[in-house]
Amino acid sequence: MKVLPRTEFGNPILRAKAKKVPLKFLKTKKFQELKKQMIYTMRRAHGVGLAASQINSSLAIAVMEMRRTPTRPDIEPKGPIIIINPRIVKYSSKKVSGWEGCLSFRGVRGLVPRFESVTVEYYNEDGKKVVEKATGFWARVFQHEIDHLNGTVYIDHVDDTKTIITLGEFKKRILSKKKKK
Ligand code: ZN
Repeated sequence: MKVLPRTEFGNPILRAKAKKVPLKFLKTKKFQELKKQMIYTMRRAHGVGLAASQINSSLAIAVMEMRRTPTRPDIEPKGPIIIINPRIVKYSSKKVSGWEGCLSFRGVRGLVPRFESVTVEYYNEDGKKVVEKATGFWARVFQHEIDHLNGTVYIDHVDDTKTIITLGEFKKRILSKKKKK
């Protein structure tokens, strides 16, 4: 299995709106291959999500998975799932701030306010429509990945640009404090 090369901040594809996927594409070998490679690439990069634009594809597809990683040691495992043509249909009234990174911005973290819960509609790999209510960190991942498919990246949502820090500083200042709790 090969790790797909990732697009990085500055590449116009990360600012483009993804194209709706025709459901018949889900029956192809090409889709099965793409799914496997996206999940593999996400895992190898210790990511919790990866949108197709991040591997230079303009399809409205993303993969998501919560696994314990060096910078997210206390995560509740979930997934992997693949979401096709997703959209958010309902938002909570409350927003919460949380740390985010992105596989297209290597070595950077920022504090991002997100809706605490969202209801998402998407097609799964079998072409079935799924309506899922997500809360907490899983809701954050949905918002981050669906943003990607609309050409938005997480730093667009950072309220205070002074919270944008390197991964090294994040580990020193934020993660070490979390571990002591
Ligand atoms: Zn991202």
